[in-house]
Order: sequence, then structure tokens, then C-alpha cells
Amino acid sequence: MIARSVFLTFAISGFMAMAQAAPSAPSPKAPIVPVTDVDMPVTMQASCPAQVKQGGLVVCTGPAGASVYKNAELVTHMDASGIAAIGIETSEPEGLRISIDSDAGAMRDFDIQVEPRTDEIRYLSGLDCDKVDARTEDQKAHAARSWETKAAGFARYEAPTVDAIYFAKPASGPFSSPFGPKRHYSGTSKATGASCTKVSVHRGLDMAVATGTDLLAPLGGTITLADPDLYYEGGAIFLDHGWGLISVFMHLSAVDVEPGQTVKTGERLGATGNTGRTTGPHLHWAVKWRPTEKSAGDGFYIDPAILLTLEEVRADGDEQDTTD
Ligand SMILES: [Zn+2]
Repeated sequence: MIARSVFLTFAISGFMAMAQAAPSAPSPKAPIVPVTDVDMPVTMQASCPAQVKQGGLVVCTGPAGASVYKNAELVTHMDASGIAAIGIETSEPEGLRISIDSDAGAMRDFDIQVEPRTDEIRYLSGLDCDKVDARTEDQKAHAARSWETKAAGFARYEAPTVDAIYFAKPASGPFSSPFGPKRHYSGTSKATGASCTKVSVHRGLDMAVATGTDLLAPLGGTITLADPDLYYEGGAIFLDHGWGLISVFMHLSAVDVEPGQTVKTGERLGATGNTGRTTGPHLHWAVKWRPTEKSAGDGFYIDPAILLTLEEVRADGDEQDTTD
């Protein structure tokens, strides 16, 4: 915001200087006031979509390194190839404005229409209470270790290894449960006989696939977590695509990658399964968007089904400095 307020200050003072000079202008010998970038800001090539759905992703292009603001909050920067991704919360209000500031006196605002979503509320019984909450010392220790592993996986912010944001399905099979519904679970503990309830929002997209189905990278990136046995998630892989976007895969029967490994779009990562807290074999695929400007928070999950509908976005070569 500093760059923006400095720019405004210059713009206003420049305008006032011109206004004061105007009354003495009739003299033909009046000095010619040079037109500067302050009075006529340099134009900037940049683009953002006109609309986005709640839970979706805005992909904009612009000058490499430009600051990107979401409703006046700095959230990320254009990457080296001139692409930025901005996550949209499921509760995102109308009136979304993305501002791109080249840090060279050029600023563009994009007012984006936010389409509302309507997510179902579901009631599910038969919950295994002993699985839902860690109760024994062994379970608690396992859950605590899993939490630390996941926190480390989310703490890394990798640069993109691909030059466009374009997602493909991570497994061959039908979708079985969408992103977004709120689930009210109820059940009974086998250990104590006590009943339990839990409310959660489904933050991923489920695919109905048999155990052993190939898990493929929906977009290239860098592995930041690969663990065969997390407490809730079972076999799990985190794949950081860059731009703050990280894919999470759960309930895997095989984990065949290592943290730090880079993978290409479509590369096999492991196999789907029925591990962790599941009610049957399936793949749970979640995508979290994190502001790469970390002062803007830890981010939130967005809807993978929307990502699969995004047009491929590539930065236009003619508006880029070929510094790479
Ligand atoms: Zn799921």
C-alpha cells in the first residue's frame, strides 16, 4: 500500500500544480509544462476474468513481480512468467476488486462479479466415534504426529514448475461427493458405548475409485508431504503447484513419491485406497490456496471441480520482459 499512497500523493500534487498554473496560461511565452508519468501513468498490460464463482480461483496476468491486492489487501505477486492466482472463499461477498500494481507507477483495478454457490447440508449416521476423535494415548500420539507432519507440509511455498495453471483429473473415475456440503455425523463409540456427533464441511472433491487406482498429478509441482499413515487422512500426499496452490490427496494405498521431489502434470504419485477415516475406497482431493504474501493469512480450501473448468491461462509473451 505504500507504493499506492505515494503514487496518489504525487498524482494529487501534480494536479494541483497544473490547476494553479492555469490562470497565467494565456501568455504565449508561458513555460510548457512537461507531461510526465505522474500525470499520465504508464499503461500496463494485465488481465483478470470478469467473473468467478464462490470457492473458485481468479487467475490474472500482468508484469512479473507486480503486487496483487484482493479488496485492497496485498495477497500475492505476479510470478516470473506474469501469472498470479487469487483464491475465492465460499463466503466471498460481492464487490470483489483485484488490483495489480506494477510498482512502477502503473495500477489497474479489476471489478469481478462473484457468483453465489449453494451447498447442501447432509446428515450421516454410523460414525465410528473412536476414529473421529483420538481417545487412546496411542491414537492421540498418532494424531499429534500427523498434525505436525501436515503443518510442515503446508508451511512450504514452492515456486511453480509449470508455466500455466491448468488442472486435470487426478484419477480415472466418477466424482462421488462434491466440495462444500456441511456434514452432520452421528454414531456410537465401540469402546465406551457413548454417542458422539461431529459437524464438518467437506473441503475436498471425492472420486469413487477402487483401491489401487493410479493417482496422477493434476498439475505439476513439488511434493511437500508424502506419508503412508496419517491418523485421519491415511496415506497422504501434498503437492505444491506454486502460486500458493497446494493439492492434498488422502486415503491412499500407496505413496510412491518423496518430499522435495518435483513431478510433471499427469505423473503417477501413488495409488488410491481406503486408509484413514473413510467409509469405503475413494480418493479425497482437496486444493488449498494460500496467499504467498504470508501476512495475509494461511489461506483456505477452494473447490477442485471449479479448477477443472478453468481455461488454461498463460501469460502473453508480448507483454513480458524476457528476463528469464
Ligand atoms: Zn472427501
